[in-house]
Amino acid sequence: MRHLTIALVAHDNRKADMIEWAVLNAKFLAQHKLVCTGTTGSLIKKAFDEIKISADIVCMHSGPMGGDTEIAAMVVRKEVNLAVFLIDDLNPQPHEADIQMLLRQCRVHNVPIACNRYSADLMITSRLWDDDAYEPAEQKYKPFNRTDFPTT
Ligand code: PGA
Repeated sequence: MRHLTIALVAHDNRKADMIEWAVLNAKFLAQHKLVCTGTTGSLIKKAFDEIKISADIVCMHSGPMGGDTEIAAMVVRKEVNLAVFLIDDLNPQPHEADIQMLLRQCRVHNVPIACNRYSADLMITSRLWDDDAYEPAEQKYKPFNRTDFPTT
């Protein structure tokens, strides 16, 4: 399979879910480069050590200290192929602005981003990664004139 750079970020209350998912998919993830926010990355490293999986894991700053921002910058530079971002939607985060920035840059730069495990499972099993004939379509931002489509 094509060698990917995969960003992994999990908020505190989603870290258990991320570790469980990463361990379940350790053999797959170990074939790729993993770029993580600080604490998420350290926890994944520790969990992989326990199951004797060696992986290329790069830890950025912790999320609230700028880790999401660093990963967003990599997204802008096209250095990330896929992001798994387990957001705590049930509690406010001090770095909400950075979270929105990472999400927005993934959308703007057409980088697949999974915000739950089901999406992550679907994305890591996609056959499109290795389909040389597949090119992601360029995104269109075309002006839309609402008055041409009157609604009641
Ligand atoms: P952390 O950051 O992995 O350093 O905890 C995650 C986040 O809160 O964005």
